Amino acid sequence: MIATKPDEMGDWRRTHYSLEIVSKMEGKKATVFGWVSSVREQGGIVFLIINDKKGTVQITVHKDKAPKLVLEKLKYLREHSSIGVRGMVKSMNKAPHGAEIVPEEIRVLSTALRQPPFSLFGGRIPSIDKRLDIRAIDMRRPKAQAIFKMRHAVLTAIREFLISRDYMEVSTPKIIATATEGGAALFPLLYYDKEAFLAQSPQLYKEQLIMPFEKVFEIGPIFRAEESRTVRHLSEVVSVDVEEAFVSYEDVMKLIEQLIRHLVQALYEKCKEEMKLLERRLTTPSSTFECITYDDALKILDKEGLTVNWGEDLSTQALKALGGVMPKFYFIKDWPTSIKPFYIKPRDDKQDICEAFDFMYGSIELASGGSRVSSKRLLMRRLKEQGLKPKLFEYHLRTFDYGMPPHAGFGLGLDRLMMVLTGQENIREVAMFPRDQFRLTP
Ligand code: ATP
Ligand code: MG
Repeated sequence: MIATKPDEMGDWRRTHYSLEIVSKMEGKKATVFGWVSSVREQGGIVFLIINDKKGTVQITVHKDKAPKLVLEKLKYLREHSSIGVRGMVKSMNKAPHGAEIVPEEIRVLSTALRQPPFSLFGGRIPSIDKRLDIRAIDMRRPKAQAIFKMRHAVLTAIREFLISRDYMEVSTPKIIATATEGGAALFPLLYYDKEAFLAQSPQLYKEQLIMPFEKVFEIGPIFRAEESRTVRHLSEVVSVDVEEAFVSYEDVMKLIEQLIRHLVQALYEKCKEEMKLLERRLTTPSSTFECITYDDALKILDKEGLTVNWGEDLSTQALKALGGVMPKFYFIKDWPTSIKPFYIKPRDDKQDICEAFDFMYGSIELASGGSRVSSKRLLMRRLKEQGLKPKLFEYHLRTFDYGMPPHAGFGLGLDRLMMVLTGQENIREVAMFPRDQFRLTP
């Protein structure tokens, strides 16, 4: 039954997307392209449903009236084949969007050789691991489409928001010579005859870039060799990084508040249908997010029966408990200096506390940020305190000799943010081709 030789597309070009085939077009000609999602025969009439990136359109073939060649093509048609259809639009109440196409010619461009092991349009779906094996097909599922349309809308809105506030989009190297923050979570690679690393963050470069440009942002990949497999860590994610001169952490926290409100509004404007499909209802966040200090967090946890010693990082278990008490967006600020990176500025009045914050949604960390150290002397001291060698950072430290101003910024994990905005439990659902310790393909 499988056509061996596909039809040529020839000079056919799409005149309409599925959604544009509406009853107002009655009597007009249209050429549509897409994938067959169902073929059904009823009383001498064959109904084809075709999917394209915008939706579905019905193609109706009356077997007694259709051109011979169309009937011939029907024999070869299988679900998932990609086809082109040219014909006359007829209004039809029962069809999607109130119209159908009666075909004059069908071109079968590529016959599906196999059917996916699960139905894309309804029914039970297998685990994410099975689906990732044929991810490009899996992403044709309406819910996956909704997730990635929302991701696209969020990326667009982030750019709109930052550019309208005069931040410049920059690109920093992803192949780097030294670890940004020390730490072991780096991927080494062979760079000609030297060892290099994939960048775990654009931190040092974005700080340097505030010298020429003052307000910068980057949306780009970061790489982390995470040890454990969790539902909120991947080895490669997209980070939204912002850095700004002549401001402090309080200012960039305000910027995050405004950014999130802007994103939620943009989603309500552009992605109503997608949010409905995902059953995601976001309330526009209040104008100021709750903000607790690290000390407050310890007190809350103590009440929840969980003791964290001052100076310890908040474990996954601690964050879960905290998320139970604070389920929405909030900040945790004023962390112990010893557990934050060397470039975070200690408070002038109390050196063991630093001007750092984490931006949270329930138990999930979405962003980390802070005021940065702008004094070279202090930066060198902080590097040594954290067991790092200032010599390795010479290329960076050098910049600080030329009038490095106070500055602040943050790194926001786009994938984590998308988990929250689309209501997904597993970060793999919001990444097109997720990478983790056990997955390097597709
Ligand atoms: P966590 O403690 O949750 O592992 P982190 O504190 O190590 O995160 P940062 O270095 O602060 O992460 O990076 C800034 C942001 O980048 C995080 O708040 C998070 O949103 C995102 N991020 C970092 N590493 C990962 C990862 N492996 N997978 C997904 N997102 C990540
Ligand atoms: Mg962090």
